Formats: sequence, structure tokens, C-alpha cells
Amino acid sequence: MELVLKKYFGYSQFRPYQKEIIQKILDGRDCLVVMATGSGKSLCYQVPPLVRGKTAIVISPLLSLMQDQVMSLKQRGIKAEYLGSTQINHAVHHEAESGSFDVLYMTPEKACSLPSRFWIKLLNVGICLLAVDEAHCISEWGHDFRKEYKQLHTLRGLLQSVPFVALTATATEKVRNDIICSLDMNDPYSAIGSFDRQNLFYGVKSFSRSQSFLDELVTEVSTYSANAGSTIIYCTTVKDAEQISESLRNAGIKSGIYHGQMSSKAREESHRSFIRDELQVMVATVAFGMGIDKPNIRCVIHYGCPKSLETYYQESGRCGRDGLTSICWLYYSRSDFAKADFYCAEAQSENQRKAIMESFRAAEKYCMMATCRRKFLLQYFGERNTNDCGNCDNCTGCKRERDLSRESFLLLSCVRSCGGRWGLNMPIDVLRGSRSRKILDNNFDKLSLHGLGKDYSAAWWKALAALLISDDYLKENVQDSYRLVSISPRGLQFVHSASMVHQTPLVLALTSEMID
Ligand code: ADP
Ligand code: ZN
Repeated sequence: MELVLKKYFGYSQFRPYQKEIIQKILDGRDCLVVMATGSGKSLCYQVPPLVRGKTAIVISPLLSLMQDQVMSLKQRGIKAEYLGSTQINHAVHHEAESGSFDVLYMTPEKACSLPSRFWIKLLNVGICLLAVDEAHCISEWGHDFRKEYKQLHTLRGLLQSVPFVALTATATEKVRNDIICSLDMNDPYSAIGSFDRQNLFYGVKSFSRSQSFLDELVTEVSTYSANAGSTIIYCTTVKDAEQISESLRNAGIKSGIYHGQMSSKAREESHRSFIRDELQVMVATVAFGMGIDKPNIRCVIHYGCPKSLETYYQESGRCGRDGLTSICWLYYSRSDFAKADFYCAEAQSENQRKAIMESFRAAEKYCMMATCRRKFLLQYFGERNTNDCGNCDNCTGCKRERDLSRESFLLLSCVRSCGGRWGLNMPIDVLRGSRSRKILDNNFDKLSLHGLGKDYSAAWWKALAALLISDDYLKENVQDSYRLVSISPRGLQFVHSASMVHQTPLVLALTSEMID
């Protein structure tokens, strides 16, 4: 095993988990591998075929990803090829089924459409494993469900004696179980690596789309790129990407753009220049995705809250692959959080809609929280025993804490008095003593709370509300894309006990909007 590692890959040591996984595969056992991006998952299915002299089948979702991998394997003297869904190359097929390749990549569509005589022939010469890369795509609970992946279980019947290896970088426990069931895996050996990327700093800021913010962003990015290494800016829309890219170019920063509306040729060119360090900054949408194996990305900025915490973790995780200190900033604006319905429109089932909603809400919570961000991320992916990290904005920031019992009491009581039928603006306007038509019509000006919160701005109250939502004192319910706020059982308990002498104070860390 070590000989193969040295001979073909030039490495003298296995990384954590690699050796165990390879050994289990050689023993014929199914494996589930969940390890962070960049931890070296591919090696786990690339070594066994070289040890055994039998073909490894690798299912991968994207053609471009397979092309990259095949090219790099060929450079190492490993016989590799891919079968795309449309291409029918009889010579390659023939070679493939006679076992000429060490590693044979194919899309899930291709794998399921190959005739069983192909598999029978190849089985006769020997298949040492079937790897399913990006295995989270199999699960409706995952953030990138692909229905072609669901068909893969049909291969299980044909390849009963072949160990199946499912690999992914992001999978909650639910998704892991779904992968195991869907592939009909038999008592798989599970290698769940830590998701923690200690060299990454995580931070969040709120922003609103404006020229002045763009100017700020450009200045910030130019300081990052002055320190060598590259930056990716992920945008939620093509329009945002174009705007930022233009601002960067106007400022003389070498930047490229990558999104789904560009031709595949233009995208490839952009990608290539980025990899070759001809560009300092790549401005992109989610289309700039899997397979970006560039070691010296120093910073990933999200301009707008992404659609799920899984996507966020995967995209931000593209920086610092070389282990050096790198930063991940997420900029959100409150309007980002009104997009849940838009994302849910993609759902093909009720379960999937729920899943999309859940992971979107998790991303929102991540933005709003005032406690350790890494701890939250790691716990979301099922890690226990996590501590405050000391390397995120909430851990390191000069965050001031304050006893906000009185203010919280006012806001919670006001939300309750307004009856939970409104968004945040109504209770805040009541506290601030507004006499608008809506308030008079509802007699809210008669509430004893009316006007008691004049000392703070509406933005301040909104920021407090965000903290109370994040800490489960307030609940938000989305109804016809309108966000209603109501008091939660925890909030109610706080309000009831607030008059008691020995009540514990509600101490909260102030967010940037609350510090003037
Ligand atoms: P993943 O698929 O988990 O995202 P990769 O398989 O692409 O990660 O590996 C990331 C990088 O680490 C690659 O450049 C790979 O060559 C390198 N790598 C993998 N295993 C080892 C090892 N044992 N020693 C040194 N480098 C390794
Ligand atoms: Zn932290």
C-alpha cells in the first residue's frame, strides 16, 4: 500500500483515515467516508485498484470534474478514463469492459444505462470497488439532490460482491443514513472525519446593496489580494456578480467572473486563468462549484446569505486548503432571508421542501447568532464536544455584552400584546410610539407599552429581535412569504418570571447594529 502511495502519488505517508479505509475496501467491506473537502478522499478509491490490479468504478456528477481527475491520474501514469452520458466511444467501451483501466469514471446516468453484459464482462476480469463521489446527492435531505443518483441502487443487484464506497464532504446524520439505505450498503465501515478547519476564520457582517458598500468591498478585497493568494466572492445572483466584477475591474484588480449564464467555453477559460493565478479574484455564483482544488485561496466572501448552511460550509471551505490561515466572510442583508419560497420552488417532494427550508433557516441562524460560529457549524454537522473556537468574529471580536432584560421584556411583551399576527415592524413601531393608521385602527396606542421604547432606533430593535429569534425567545412563521413573529414558550416563561426578584438577567452579546 505504502509502495503504491509513493510510486504513483509521491507521498510517503497516509493522511488520517486513508489507510483504514483502503484496508477495509481491500477486505471487501462497504465504506461510508465523510471527510472535509481537501482531506484526501479521492486517494481512498484510487489506491485499491493499483494494489489489486482490478478496475475501480467511480460515479461522479460532473463531466468537468471527471476530466480533471482523469487528466491528473494519467499524468501520474495511472490508466484512467471516463464515460460521459452522451458520448459513445466503442473503442473505449471495449477497453473498459475488458478491464484495461485502473480507474473508470462515469456519470450516474451512464452507470445505470450500461447494459448488464457490460458489467458481467467487467466483473469477470474484476472490479475492486464502486465509489459514489459527492454521495450526498443521493439524499432528498441533502442540499444538492439529484434524481439520477437515486437510480444507483440498481447497480447493487448486479455487483453484489463489489464493495461500495460512498464519499462526501458534507452530510448530516440524516443524510448519512439515507446514503446507506439508498445504496443498500451492508454494515458499512464509517469514517467520519472532523469537519473542523482550524486554519479558517469565520465572520459575518450585515450589509445593504449600495455603491458605497461596493466601494468598501473593493478596498477590502484589494488588501487581501495584495498579500498574494486568491479570493472567491460568491454571489446569490448573476446581477450581483456582474456589478462586483465591474467594480473590481474599475479599481484595477485582476478579476474574473463565473456563472451559469456564460458559455461553457467562457467558463472554462475563466476557471483556468484563476487556477493559473492570472486572476486575483473570482466573482462567481454557485455554478463555480465542485472540483476547485486550488491550494492558495486565502479568502472566500459570500455576498448575500447562501441557500443552505451545507452550501456555505462547502463553498467557504474552498479556502486554506494548504493549511495556512485563511478567512471566510459572509455578508447578509435581511432581504436575503425572504428568499426561502424561491428556493423551495425547486423541491420535488414535501420532504425535500422541508429539507430545503431547514437548511436555509440554519444559514439564517448562522448569520444572526452572537455566539461561536464554528461551534454552531460543527454541531450542525453532528460533532459533539465542541468548544468556543477563539477564531471567529464572535469569539475574538470586541463584542460587548449587556444585560438586556428590560429591553427584551419590552419587546417580548409587545409582540405578545400585538397578538402574533404581525411582522417585526408592528411591535417595534408600537414600542417607538408611532401613531400610524394601522396602530390606531388596532388600538395599539392604548397599550401601556406604547412609546416605552423610544430611546432606541428601529434598527436597534430589529437587531435585538434577531438575537431573541436566534435564542428561541421569539418565533418566526412564514406565511405567504410574509414573516410573522410570535412569542415562544421560552419567551413566555421569561416574561412571566421577569417580575420576580431573583430572575436571572438576560445577558446578550451586542451585534454591530446595536453598537453606535
Ligand atoms: P477531497 O476529495 O477530500 O476534497 P482530494 O482527494 O482532492 O480531497 O485531496 C486533496 C489534496 O490532498 C490533493 O492535492 C491530494 O493530492 C492531496 N493528498 C491526498 N492524500 C495525501 C497524502 N497522503 N499525503 C499528501 N497529500 C495528499
Ligand atoms: Zn468561535
